[in-house]
Amino acid sequence: MAMADSSCLHRPHVVVVPLPAQGHINALMHFSKTLAARGILITFLTTERLHHRIFRRPHQEISATLQDHHGLHIRFQVMPDDMLPDGGGATKIGELFEALQNKVGPMMEQLLRKVNEEGPPITCILSDSFFASTHQVASSLKVPRVVFWPYCAAASVAQANTQLLISQGFIPVKAEDVKNPTKLITCLPGIPPLLPKDLRSFYQEKCSSDLMFHTQVYESEIQNKADWVLVNTFEELEGTESIQALSKGYPAQAVGPVFLGEFLQGEHSFPKDIIRTSLWEENEECMRWLEKQAPTSVLYVSFGSYTLMSREQVQELALGLEGSEQPFMWVIRPDLVEGECSALPGDYLHRIKDQGLLVNWAPQLKVLSHPSMGGFLTHNGWNSTIESISMGVPMIGWPYWSEQFLNCRFSREMWKVGMDLECKADENGLVNSVEIEKVVRNLMQGNEGRELRKNAANLKEAAIKAVMPGGSSHTNIDTFVEHIRNLSQ
Ligand code: UDP
Repeated sequence: MAMADSSCLHRPHVVVVPLPAQGHINALMHFSKTLAARGILITFLTTERLHHRIFRRPHQEISATLQDHHGLHIRFQVMPDDMLPDGGGATKIGELFEALQNKVGPMMEQLLRKVNEEGPPITCILSDSFFASTHQVASSLKVPRVVFWPYCAAASVAQANTQLLISQGFIPVKAEDVKNPTKLITCLPGIPPLLPKDLRSFYQEKCSSDLMFHTQVYESEIQNKADWVLVNTFEELEGTESIQALSKGYPAQAVGPVFLGEFLQGEHSFPKDIIRTSLWEENEECMRWLEKQAPTSVLYVSFGSYTLMSREQVQELALGLEGSEQPFMWVIRPDLVEGECSALPGDYLHRIKDQGLLVNWAPQLKVLSHPSMGGFLTHNGWNSTIESISMGVPMIGWPYWSEQFLNCRFSREMWKVGMDLECKADENGLVNSVEIEKVVRNLMQGNEGRELRKNAANLKEAAIKAVMPGGSSHTNIDTFVEHIRNLSQ
């Protein structure tokens, strides 16, 4: 990385460390842009491979372009690939977490020492909640560590209280409690009661000897040793108590939806090869396709960056979408389907040509904000969930793992903007095409769908208010920025 130029020298300097996975990079890049727009210098850490996959240009060149053409002081620092495997697929997740726990710390410390020497000095490290090693690095560099939770507050509180849940016998989560819960989890501060199924799927009994289980427990201990906590949610959605419950004596604040302020300002006019953070090439054809569709008529179908589906499930989904007779746009990531061969029936594309569009990867924010959007069939990853809520699009939830079951249930029961498809699965976990067809029709054409759409529109309004000047998240970000400025003086 180049030495600091003179315009950076007096800026507070925040090093941002996302987990190397799509949703985490997106959320932290959005937040970085918000901080940079308020005069903070950002050094954004990625791995070499991810940097290349996302930006396709050397990091020095992008840093310079952002500064010269957009006045945004965001620079990129890459970590060697052997330091941290990327989270590009579900099979690698254990490997990634092992590296986070055991390998990354000393190398990151070395790297950040250099960044610090080159200046301006690092004011604080802002790290993804799952990055325990940043705690050691921050202590050793004697700078504060801010923990950023890229989840809803309720899921964050549950994760931060892992030890309490272990001591009360809720973790490991027993299979029978997932199927037929007899007890609600009422011991967690500040949040509504949870079901055992709401806890992270990695905490299930069948995973209790997995590396993932143990690293999650370890990470949860370190997560609580922060100097400041930020959450990608907004107070009007989850209430201040749930956010305060993340504090162990230090400030905890909701600063989300992190993408929304920037999105409303039309910052998406940035040249996309400079600031886009997609791991896959976005298909721009889909915006032209959406232009031809009637208002609120299209179902957007996407399962984020990790979900895997069996060939059989993809076939049922394909038939269900077709049978619903609703226009749909379906993101089929190149690695969505388990196994090699194509899962779709041979003449499928031809059959649905006037009804649907299949793409590898979509510009999801643009898609969700399009007037033709009528619903989102989603895996309920937190980014997708909060993006849908902020765009006023009701959801059909089909959670896959992690805390997605909680996001799905809260969307349905608390926020009343979602339906649940996962509950229709048979004993083998398969949801058949008839169920899919029914729930899609219900969301897109039924009275229930209309009601959910109304609720989603209200939440959209609340989300927009939260990120506008004077709104709760906007004010919280101001407070945080003020704190960072004071630290750097
Ligand atoms: N996304 C996208 N295009 C797609 C699918 C997803 O840009 O075709 C983005 C989406 O907007 C979100 C992220 O990828 O920001 C997925 O994060 P999420 O937390 O929903 O799911 P994960 O990938 O972590 O399972």
